[in-house]
Amino acid sequence: MIYYDKPHFIIKKNLQKSANTGEYFSDFITEDVMSDVCRRICGETDYTYIFVDNDYEDDLVERSYNKGRMALMLYKDVVSYISFSEKEIRGRNSSVQSVTTAYNIYYMSSHPKKSLYYYFLDLNGNPETDYIFMMYRLMKTIGFTFLNPEAITQRIDAFNSVEDIMTARKLNSDRNSSNNSTYITKSSALQIDIYGKTYGANKYATGMMCYAMALLASKKQKLTLYEVLEGDLKELPKSCLDVIAKMGKIKVIKTDMQLEKKVFEENNSLRSPRYLFNLLDRLGTKRCALCECEIPELIQGAHIWSVADIKKQPLTLEKKLSYATDGHNGLWLCENHHKMFDENLIRIKPNGRISYHSSENRHILFMKKITLVEKINDEYMSEKFIEYLEQRNRAII
Ligand SMILES: [Zn+2]
Repeated sequence: MIYYDKPHFIIKKNLQKSANTGEYFSDFITEDVMSDVCRRICGETDYTYIFVDNDYEDDLVERSYNKGRMALMLYKDVVSYISFSEKEIRGRNSSVQSVTTAYNIYYMSSHPKKSLYYYFLDLNGNPETDYIFMMYRLMKTIGFTFLNPEAITQRIDAFNSVEDIMTARKLNSDRNSSNNSTYITKSSALQIDIYGKTYGANKYATGMMCYAMALLASKKQKLTLYEVLEGDLKELPKSCLDVIAKMGKIKVIKTDMQLEKKVFEENNSLRSPRYLFNLLDRLGTKRCALCECEIPELIQGAHIWSVADIKKQPLTLEKKLSYATDGHNGLWLCENHHKMFDENLIRIKPNGRISYHSSENRHILFMKKITLVEKINDEYMSEKFIEYLEQRNRAII
């Protein structure tokens, strides 16, 4: 890289859809904005700049349109990557898309002296929804410096640990379940599982969540990302998978239907990633439906209509698989309650009421003692859930 005595901006003029929208990056990144950015990064106000076209390329800038809503500022031997907010918060995912892309470019850059910034342009719309604010915190965690944090009202704090992200994620999804594209849970003390939709607009949020988790995970913690693929929809973008691979902390498993079929055919106690994703999607974070235990390592997805019974039905493999992985065909149970349920010591009637079955009264008393509810919570009781209960109870009797 050339040594610049004066800060020098290189900015791609075209955004992804400039040809259609007529909006160019040069319309937003005015001299006032550049001057402010420059002053905040290095204290200088004297700078030069150049807007370049799609086919411009050098060591730092690839030949394409402006990805990640970025400007590069070169000063002395340091390169600053600056990603800019939207002028308008349109959809909750649009701004996330560009910051993840910006991060990918920054992270993969081999330049030895580099820094990463985010700058709020004058905004229309609410830039502080729970969802977007969670994204700011993830950005801070993975290394973005906010150049003008006073543009929003709340203070942006980085996350300190994987557990910290899990808690915030839970609060966020409890408030607004439509925000859920990624679920994080533990299957054992050191095993953290990330279930992420990796297609459509969700993929960038999933990517950013993974980066933050990978950077915060302790040496002993193991992370697995289950990519929940749907039909022809694809895995995470290559640029995100490259970053994850370079971080070297997350094992990535693609849960396409081929894998699901294999899991289904090989065992009855289905530990299918898709099933767990569907349960998380329907029921939220793990919590035993009978005793309210929330220790994730102890909570399992329990089938209502059992996999073994589904397998015996004269149905196509596709149909069986759809019953076996249906989020309505299950509930969260702790290991104790799961076993009691599987052994039919505890049963659930189609009206949701719980009954106990044992020839020994003291066992019934014990089960009653550790079960805190008399009836399954109404939120479980969907029409399909009730049908599965009827299906199950027919097989018992
Ligand atoms: Zn329980």
